[in-house]
Amino acid sequence: MRTAIIVGAGPAGLTAAYKFLKTTDIHPIIIEASGCVGGISQTVNYKGNRMDLGGHRFFSKDGTIVKMWTDLLPVCDPEKDDKAMMIRTRVSRILYLRKFFAYPISIKPETFFNMGLYRTLRVGISYISSILLKRNEKSLEDFMVNRFGTYLYKMFFENYTEKVWGKNPKEISASWGVQRVKGLSLSKALLHIIKPSKAIETSLIEQFLYPKLGPGQLWETMAAEIIKMGGEIRYNTEVMGVTQQDDQVSSLIIREAQGDRLMIGDIFISSMPIKDLILGMNDVPLTVRNIAAELPYRDFMTVGLLVKKTPSMLPDCWIYIQDDDVKIGRLQIFNNWSPYLVQDPVNTVWLGLEYFCSEGDDLWQMSDEVFIAFAIEELIKLNMIAKEDVLDSVRLKVKKAYPAYFGTYEQFDQVKYFLNGINNLYCIGRNGQHRYNNMDHSMLTAIKTVELIKNNGDKSTIWDVNTEDVYHEKC
Ligand SMILES: Cc1cc2nc3c(=O)[nH]c(=O)nc-3n(C[C@H](O)[C@H](O)[C@H](O)COP(=O)(O)OP(=O)(O)OC[C@H]3O[C@@H](n4cnc5c(N)ncnc54)[C@H](O)[C@@H]3O)c2cc1C
Repeated sequence: MRTAIIVGAGPAGLTAAYKFLKTTDIHPIIIEASGCVGGISQTVNYKGNRMDLGGHRFFSKDGTIVKMWTDLLPVCDPEKDDKAMMIRTRVSRILYLRKFFAYPISIKPETFFNMGLYRTLRVGISYISSILLKRNEKSLEDFMVNRFGTYLYKMFFENYTEKVWGKNPKEISASWGVQRVKGLSLSKALLHIIKPSKAIETSLIEQFLYPKLGPGQLWETMAAEIIKMGGEIRYNTEVMGVTQQDDQVSSLIIREAQGDRLMIGDIFISSMPIKDLILGMNDVPLTVRNIAAELPYRDFMTVGLLVKKTPSMLPDCWIYIQDDDVKIGRLQIFNNWSPYLVQDPVNTVWLGLEYFCSEGDDLWQMSDEVFIAFAIEELIKLNMIAKEDVLDSVRLKVKKAYPAYFGTYEQFDQVKYFLNGINNLYCIGRNGQHRYNNMDHSMLTAIKTVELIKNNGDKSTIWDVNTEDVYHEKC
């Protein structure tokens, strides 16, 4: 029997193992560096309050994926069954000028009311100018200004993009905008009011699936199925190196509690960051190594904050914070994702204060205590909470949350070409492909890989996932 060694027990790695067991006689062994499953989509249980690292909507245009989710956790009454997938309604708004705006920005009376006459006039004039004088689209700024006008761009995109990516939109290529906000523009927003359209711009998707106990519940259920079917998951085991020769991976160097050792297998599937994979591999051409070494990422921190419930609790699942006098990027209200995430949803509100950052920067280096105090002060400044209502808090850090398309990413094809040449190695998932894949796309890369191994296909089918025209909002 052939063995597949799978690196990573996130959505991609788990799906690969699950598919091997369901459809082949290949034996999967997952190697997972941490002590849990789910990767970035795990759910952290802090003293009975469950925290979703980011707020993960389950939505997909691929029926296979939705079926897999709902086979594992059927849509049913969460009051009657713990193994329940819920259908949730998206409520999310933008906080700007300490006022709430619809997300995505829409042309409603309240938008003009919140902006005031002066700003509304400026938005109108700059939008008309953007129609008359189109910019050559070199940067994300050009892309946005062409669709929304300079003033609206400055209000709602410039600062937020800088918060998320740590770069001004001037420094980001226009192709980024094509992926992220394809199809959305002020004229479309206007049309949407006149004639509400069913054409799906993903930013407008209003419902999504969500496991009763958070995304981690889905991955824990899948992991239990994998074990039941005879697969293996080795926790707290990290892949430190990859040995390859004659276009084949021959072994992995793994680090476990007892020390380092070699692990052999027939097929190797990697969802670990490409940068780490390449830097741990022998005989990599220098150019490829240099490109991989400089691949950029954006990291992420979140503060879980338990506060007393007040009558004015907000209805949103999450809020985009656009004001530039605070560093917080998004606020999650976990009660509104699923009240079952919260130990006492009647009396408490469980919040997630999200910060986009870079490993080692000033925010990242702050101690937990200092950072939590800073985050609480920001929410007070935004008039969202009162200090005396804070009951408990925790800070979590997520490295490499966002693979970024800057720097050496432009030369990424050389890395891909080199990796594709290693016959028994397959790269899947988000960081495993250095692509901005959501859970469904990460899973699809795994499904395509198993199909390809069964049918001896071409590796390009794995890399083609999430390059199609149909737009998905990225998280
Ligand atoms: C803030 C935020 C919000 C998001 N919201 C959504 C959303 O609403 N909807 C959605 O569909 N997607 C969302 N995503 C994306 C989603 O989290 C990812 O698509 C998904 O988790 C990727 O799965 P993966 O298995 O490829 O990678 P990961 O989840 O990163 O899992 C990789 C696993 O590999 C392990 N690993 C890494 N290196 C090694 C090594 N050397 N040895 C052994 N193990 C290793 C890691 O510990 C991890 O468990 C969001 C992401 C972020 C950051």
